[in-house]
Amino acid sequence: MHNSTEHSYPTLFEPLNLGFTSLRNRVLMGSMHTGLEDVPDSHARMAAFYGERANGGVALIVTGGFMPSKYCLPEGTTPLFKEKGQVAKHRLITKAVHEGGGKICLQILHTGRYSRQENLIAPSPIKSPINRFIPHEASNEQIEGEIQAFVDFSAFCQEAGYDGVEIMGSEGYFINEFIVERTNQRTDQWGGSYENRIRLPLEIVRRVRERVGEEFIIIYRLSMLDLVEGGSSYAEVVQLGKALAEVGVTIMNTGIGWHEATIPTIATKVPRAAFSWVTAKFKDEIPVPVITSNRINNPEVAEEILSRGDADMVSMARPLLADSDFVVKAEANKADEINTCIACNQACLDHIFSGQLTSCLVNPRACSELELVISATESPKYIAIIGAGPAGLATAVTAAERGHRVTLFDANDKIGGQFNLAKKIPGKEEFHETLRYYQTQMKKLGVDVKLSQRVTVEQLNNSDFDEVVLATGIVPRTPKISGIDHSCVHNYIDVITGKVEVGDRVAIIGAGGIGFDVAEYLAHAGESTSQNIPAFMAEWGIDMNFNSRGGIEGTEEKITPSHRTIYLCQRKHEGLGKSLGKTTGWIHRLGLIKRGIRMLAGCDYQRIDDEGLHVMVGTEPKLLEVDNVIICAGQESLRELSVGLNKSFHLIGGADVATELDAKRAIDQGTRLAISI
Ligand code: FAD
Ligand code: NAP
Ligand code: SF4
Repeated sequence: MHNSTEHSYPTLFEPLNLGFTSLRNRVLMGSMHTGLEDVPDSHARMAAFYGERANGGVALIVTGGFMPSKYCLPEGTTPLFKEKGQVAKHRLITKAVHEGGGKICLQILHTGRYSRQENLIAPSPIKSPINRFIPHEASNEQIEGEIQAFVDFSAFCQEAGYDGVEIMGSEGYFINEFIVERTNQRTDQWGGSYENRIRLPLEIVRRVRERVGEEFIIIYRLSMLDLVEGGSSYAEVVQLGKALAEVGVTIMNTGIGWHEATIPTIATKVPRAAFSWVTAKFKDEIPVPVITSNRINNPEVAEEILSRGDADMVSMARPLLADSDFVVKAEANKADEINTCIACNQACLDHIFSGQLTSCLVNPRACSELELVISATESPKYIAIIGAGPAGLATAVTAAERGHRVTLFDANDKIGGQFNLAKKIPGKEEFHETLRYYQTQMKKLGVDVKLSQRVTVEQLNNSDFDEVVLATGIVPRTPKISGIDHSCVHNYIDVITGKVEVGDRVAIIGAGGIGFDVAEYLAHAGESTSQNIPAFMAEWGIDMNFNSRGGIEGTEEKITPSHRTIYLCQRKHEGLGKSLGKTTGWIHRLGLIKRGIRMLAGCDYQRIDDEGLHVMVGTEPKLLEVDNVIICAGQESLRELSVGLNKSFHLIGGADVATELDAKRAIDQGTRLAISI
């Protein structure tokens, strides 16, 4: 039992009494499909993954979604509760979590019309805008079968040692689809009136409760804000919440936004705890504990929400990928040692949506717990790392953690490399946290940090380092365009660091991640809605007064157009932003279009002169009359120190390969190198 007076987050560490059982604190690890479900040796790996989070202090874990029906699964596969031997395998997971002092619920997820196979069903045959398959209308018999599948699956979970189940009723999946007319146009007992439309979730919960008895947790994930036209009204959400509590739900979890909604709900641009105002109102109307979620990534914010009474528990998912010890660090008043989730989605959601195993940009060990083991070295070495960007920082802390003696050099007067530029982009303020984390770790682990020192080959050759790591990063590419030396031309570094002044009319050459970020930087007049919840809601047209159906119907977006005229240009003919993250690229693109940024594909740059930038777009000559041209045309490796170096050395990050370099690769490569030295 924790003593709630000993640390800075008394409400967060208050146990939650559920009557038949108690949770040790108020942290729920939210459901994430990680891909571990589908790899060889999946149960041992899931046991390691969830077990590490339970050891790290999480009270209640919800697994990634498991599908209960052949109407969700690829042809030839069966739901796991029908497969022989699955109980024993799942016991590995529940045992690992229980040994860590945590509790675990399995999420039952019926994907309905989001299922990516031909045999999909939904209340009505209405295609989702994000799925090419058209669902079949579920027959009465099929609906009864699906309810039974939830019941059988719950019984299986009980047998496998799970403490409960989470029934996924939000994000626009099967159950959610029955609730609203947008997707349910039936005229039988499952459609028509609201009472009929909510019959499915109520029947599922009632029959599951009947089967599992009173001492088993049923979490229901309720869509509190659909963020789509034709979504539920707030009164309907409350009506459903109350009815669900009556038929046996133990805890109510929050869903914000259907998958097909075109409003960001978890990306880094979304303010921290942006949606806890929803549960703040809902909680007072519901007789069971309510969990709030979305962009809660540090213990201060979690404590604030809970102590204000906005919810009874907080759900954090990605923050526990980023740091499995989040909770124990908070409990020990070591929040500054938490490796914070920066909500980039680059290694978690983007991976899942492209068929790769989940990991984490700031923590490559996530989901590779059995493979990437940071163990003490038997032969400590004296290691020089040149460059304190993400690659060098990751190498430094991992090598020091293993017991190596590490000196980290940087020519700059601060650590961070290009992250010092990234953190200045409106909406990327979270990048500060990664640098704070590395700073704390290096101090704790005794890394000798030498700043404002541009290292030379001679210096390294005359030193007594055993190993040298070159993490010197990149230099911006200067494209060969006539007039590139004109005084109106600047590179992105000088723009973001404020070294040069930029006029009101700008052309950006290059529309990769950095081109988009520079456009974002230049389009804002200092304001950033990612730290202002009401401004963010106004920008995306979300009604905070609970009057609009789905939270958005009939609202207007309040966007401040860019005070500059900005052209974002690329040579490729495809739409701009294709290289951006799968789950965040659309947000960047939409955000810039809303601010009036002009996007030009298929540019052939002719020349830059006093008039501006001359381009051919297809066969049409165009003059972009601008004050400045900003070059964001990619990067080239900076590895001059590798020439003439007479010591064993390693190249990592941008110094190794500049093409398609991102912080995910840089940190992963640095961590793996440090594990191998
Ligand atoms: P760098 O970060 O470039 O660090 C290299 C360091 O080496 C520098 O600090 C430099 O001073 C030092 N150095 C070089 N030579 C010497 C020497 N001789 N002696 C001493 N020190 C030396 N990536 C993402 O994954 N997601 C994003 O959202 C994202 N956003 C970005 C936004 C912007 C505006 C920018 C500019 C970059 C962004 N990136 C992003 C890219 C990411 O920052 C880089 O991929 C990453 O920083 C590369 O890490 P690195 O350690 O290889 O090199
Ligand atoms: P990038 O993504 O490779 O984009 C470079 C851009 O410059 C492209 O639009 C390219 O498109 C253009 N270009 C390349 N060579 C050119 C030339 N010779 N002349 C004119 N244009 C040229 O690189 P970046 O934008 O510099 O970003 C660097 C890395 O940082 C990226 O790999 C990215 O992953 C990472 N990053 C990520 C994010 C994020 O949000 N995830 C944000 C910022 C940076 P055309 O060839 O079509 O013109
Ligand atoms: Fe968070 Fe990015 Fe890691 Fe995903 S990859 S958990 S969003 S830091």
